[in-house]
Amino acid sequence: MVIGAGPAGSYTALHLAKQGIKTRVFEEHSQIGLPVHCAGHISIRSLKTLGLYPLHGIIENIFCAANFYSPHGTKFTLQLNCPVTTVLNRAHFDQYLAEQAQTAGAEFILNSRVQSLLMQNGTVTGIKVEGSNGAEMRLRSSIVVDAEGVSSRLLRQTGLVPLKPSGIVYAVEAEMDNIQNVEKHAVEVYFGRGYAPGFYGWVIPRPDGTAKVGLAVDKGDPRMYLKRLMTKHPVASKQLSKAKIISTGYHAISLGGPIPQVCSNGFLAVGDCASQVKPTTGGGVIFGLTAAKEAAKVVNQALERGDVSAEALQPYQKRCNELFGFDFKTMLRLRRFLDSLSDEKIDEMLRVCSKLGVDGALRGVTEIDFQGKMLLNVATKPAMIATLVYFGLLYLNQG
Ligand SMILES: Cc1cc2nc3c(=O)[nH]c(=O)nc-3n(C[C@H](O)[C@H](O)[C@H](O)COP(=O)(O)OP(=O)(O)OC[C@H]3O[C@@H](n4cnc5c(N)ncnc54)[C@H](O)[C@@H]3O)c2cc1C
Repeated sequence: MVIGAGPAGSYTALHLAKQGIKTRVFEEHSQIGLPVHCAGHISIRSLKTLGLYPLHGIIENIFCAANFYSPHGTKFTLQLNCPVTTVLNRAHFDQYLAEQAQTAGAEFILNSRVQSLLMQNGTVTGIKVEGSNGAEMRLRSSIVVDAEGVSSRLLRQTGLVPLKPSGIVYAVEAEMDNIQNVEKHAVEVYFGRGYAPGFYGWVIPRPDGTAKVGLAVDKGDPRMYLKRLMTKHPVASKQLSKAKIISTGYHAISLGGPIPQVCSNGFLAVGDCASQVKPTTGGGVIFGLTAAKEAAKVVNQALERGDVSAEALQPYQKRCNELFGFDFKTMLRLRRFLDSLSDEKIDEMLRVCSKLGVDGALRGVTEIDFQGKMLLNVATKPAMIATLVYFGLLYLNQG
């Protein structure tokens, strides 16, 4: 059984069903992928690795560059050699993954909110669901995969350590029309405590002049900060002065790094509910999908052996540590570093990046998800050595 038909849940279901495992996915909403709570900005390389590219009819744009702005308007442009990222229609992407899972044999039960886990002697043995007609059902399952997203309400019932509250940021994302002065194939990123404390703001344009615009904050009301970004930021205010807001959505992002244990007896957690999200950018789709594939393999092995104990599910934990451990450690350090910077230091940092030629050193980069490994690959380039030394000193000076 899988809880949640987001990308992590549907992708787990796809890989379970492909292995011939009877799989049911419970989703609380009446439609998969809605309401949308994600920008859908994803690495092309990682989608290819997962066999999910090209996604015809789902891709809205591709990007070869990113413009980073300090709160004072200093700009650093990272121009890459080839399209490195894409923006997806997230609702269509979620629906596509669910369709793939259905074709492989998984059953999706919509309008069905899982209220709690059934437990017996410390083992998860099923779920209690409220169906569309309000009726409650108790359903048994040899194993439950939790992909409920950042709320991680059910996970807490298992006794696993939940997401760190200190790592949660609160995001607003708006669909906007009539964006001006942005390049079609560049993502705009805005730093600064006055605009997006604890995170950053973004404009992800589409060729038709519409864009996904958002930001997240570690405290305060993200709507107030979005308004400030749109009216006061030296660059964003010009790009968004005539923008028309079509819709807005609010959601949390967990930046605190993965939960220490992702399985217990009869239970595995994948995706946002396990905080498998990049602490630097808040991107969780690729890590969630990667973990989902691994979870499905381990579930199959456990079912074949007839042992679903936490111990039997440990290979999933081990695989997550191998795949993500180093990158998460590096990204958590980067997040702490970014959070420690004053607006003046951000300004200085972007100027130094331009001066030292960081853009040239990073031009050939195609890996943006596994950022620890990416940094190791580029760290030997002279511009990067100088920059890393500068950042190191800056980090030490922040105390
Ligand atoms: C504003 C914003 C922008 C983002 N932008 C990006 C981005 O550009 N790129 C990127 O990679 N990531 C991005 N993310 C993160 C990304 O959205 C998540 O990492 C991703 O959606 C995680 O997938 P998931 O399947 O784990 O969880 P979700 O996508 O949250 O799916 C969980 C599903 O479970 C369902 N559910 C929850 N509880 C229950 C229950 N009790 N019973 C039944 N169903 C339940 C929910 O309805 C939902 O459908 C962004 C997040 C936010 C908030």
